[in-house]
Amino acid sequence: MPTETLIAPTATSEGIKPEIREFVGTHRRMLIDGQWVNAKSGDSFRVYNPATGEVLGNVAAGDSADVDLAVKAARRAFEHGPWSRMTHGERGKLIWKLADLIEENLEEFAQIESLDNGKPLAVARVADIPLAIDNFRYMSGWATKIEGQTVSLSNLGQDFFAYTLREPVGVVGQIIPWNFPLLMAAWKLGPALTAGCTVVLKPAEQTPLSALRLGELIEKAGFPPGVVNVVTGYGETAGAALAAHPDVDKVAFTGSTEVGKLIVHAAAGNLKKVSLELGGKSPNIVFADADMEMAIQGATNAIYFNHGQCCCAGSRLYVEEKIFDKVVEGVGEKTKNIKVAEGFDPQCGMGPLVSDEQLERVLGFIESGEKEGAKTVIGGHRLGDRGYFVEPTLLTNVRTGMKVVEEEIFGPVVCAMPFKDIDQVATQMNRTAYGLAGGIWTKDVSKAHRMARAMKAGTVWINCYNVFDAALPFGGYKQSGWGREMGREVFELYTQVKSVCLKI
Ligand code: ADP
Repeated sequence: MPTETLIAPTATSEGIKPEIREFVGTHRRMLIDGQWVNAKSGDSFRVYNPATGEVLGNVAAGDSADVDLAVKAARRAFEHGPWSRMTHGERGKLIWKLADLIEENLEEFAQIESLDNGKPLAVARVADIPLAIDNFRYMSGWATKIEGQTVSLSNLGQDFFAYTLREPVGVVGQIIPWNFPLLMAAWKLGPALTAGCTVVLKPAEQTPLSALRLGELIEKAGFPPGVVNVVTGYGETAGAALAAHPDVDKVAFTGSTEVGKLIVHAAAGNLKKVSLELGGKSPNIVFADADMEMAIQGATNAIYFNHGQCCCAGSRLYVEEKIFDKVVEGVGEKTKNIKVAEGFDPQCGMGPLVSDEQLERVLGFIESGEKEGAKTVIGGHRLGDRGYFVEPTLLTNVRTGMKVVEEEIFGPVVCAMPFKDIDQVATQMNRTAYGLAGGIWTKDVSKAHRMARAMKAGTVWINCYNVFDAALPFGGYKQSGWGREMGREVFELYTQVKSVCLKI
C-alpha cells in the first residue's frame, strides 16, 4: 500500500476519523491483478470535497493501457485461476465475508461517502452502506441456487436427453456513477461475483474513494487476484476503453442516458452483452383521497432524497386539482425546514451537489424554467459561494414541453402540476422518453393497481417512494435502460444458457 501523504483532506467538519483523513488524503492507486498500482502513464487526478470545493484526495488516472491490463487479469482469473475452480458454496461464503467486512467498517465507509459525495453522513450510515451490505448478503445466497434445467423435448422423443447449464457470462466491465458510490458498486459486483464472473470496475471520477476502500476489503476477504479489478479514471478514457474492449464479454453501466447510448455504440465492436440503468423523469401522483400528511412528506422525500441526484427522483409531481394548493403549500413548508449543510452536520437534511458542473447544470435548469414562465414557490438559488450548495426548489406554473418538465435535472428541483382526473394523469405520466419509476398516493386500492398497470415504468411505489430491497428487481422501461438489477432477474445479466443434447 502507498503511504506517501500528498494532500490533506480539507473538510472543515468535526468528527472525521483519523484513519479516514489518512485514507482520503493519501494518493490512491488502482487495484489490478491483486496489486495496487499507479497508472501506466503516471497520471493522477484530484477528487474534490463538494462541501468546500477544495481538493480532498488524489487518485491514479487509469486509461486504456490500464484497462487492458485489468481485462487481461480478469480473463486469466476467469479461465484459469482458483476462482474458476471454486465451488458455488465457497464463492457464496466469500461474498458473505465481504459483507461482514463492510459492516465492520460501516462508519468508515459512511464518512468516506459523505466527504467524497457530499451526502449527509446520517443518510450514508442508514441507507447507502447498510443497503450495500444487504445486497452482497442477498446475492451470496444465490451462489448455490443458479441452475439449469432438464428439458422435456418437444419433437425429438425419447432417443434424446437434454438439459441446460447456466454459466457465467465471463469478464464483465462495470461502469458506475457518483450518486451512491458504494451502493452502485455493490449492485454491480454482488450478482456478477455470485454468478462466477470476473470484473473490471470503474467508479465515477467524482467519487472513486469508497470503491478503492472496498478493493482493500475484497483483498482481505480472500478473493483471488484478478477477480475484481478497480480502475479509476475518467469516463471518456478509462470508461470508454472498458466499454469498447474486445475481450470484455459484457458491460454493465449505470449513468446518464446520453452516455448509455455511447456505451451501446462502443459495445458493438465485439457485440458484448450490455445492461444499462439510465436516467428518469419520474412521475409522483397524489390523488385527493390520499393520506395527505403521508403524501406531502412522501412527495418531499421523493425529490429531495440524495439532493435529487437519483435516477428515480420524483421530479414530476402531479396533484389532483382540488388539493393542488394544499399539497404545494405542504411540500413548500417541508422544503423550508430542510437544513442545507455540510454532510457531517448532524442536522444536515441536504448536502452540497456533487460538483461545480452539477451545480451549474441545476442552476441552468432553474433559470430556463423561470424564463419559460415557471413560478418558483421556494428555493431557486445557490447557497453561499463555497462548495456546491443549492436550495431545494419547488416550481409551479409548468407544463409539458418545458425543459424542466421534459429533461432529467438530477438535482433538487420538482415541478408540481395539477390534474383533473385519473384518465388525464394516466396519459400525462407516460408522456416522457423515460420509464424508470413512479409513485402513486391514494387510499383507493383499485385505483392504485389500475395506475400501477398503466404506468410505463420498471418500478411503481404505492404510498411510499424510494423503497429499495435487494430482492426487488430495478430497471427501466423505454430510454431508462436495458435489463433489471437485483432480485433473481439480475442473473439474466450475468449468466448465459447452454443447451446440452445427448443421443441415447
Ligand atoms: P453524470 O452525467 O451523472 O456524471 P455519466 O453518465 O457521465 O453521469 O457518468 C456515469 C459513469 O460513466 C461514470 O463512471 C463516468 O466516468 C462514465 N462515463 C462517462 N462518459 C463515458 C464514456 N464515454 N464511456 C464510458 N463511460 C463513461
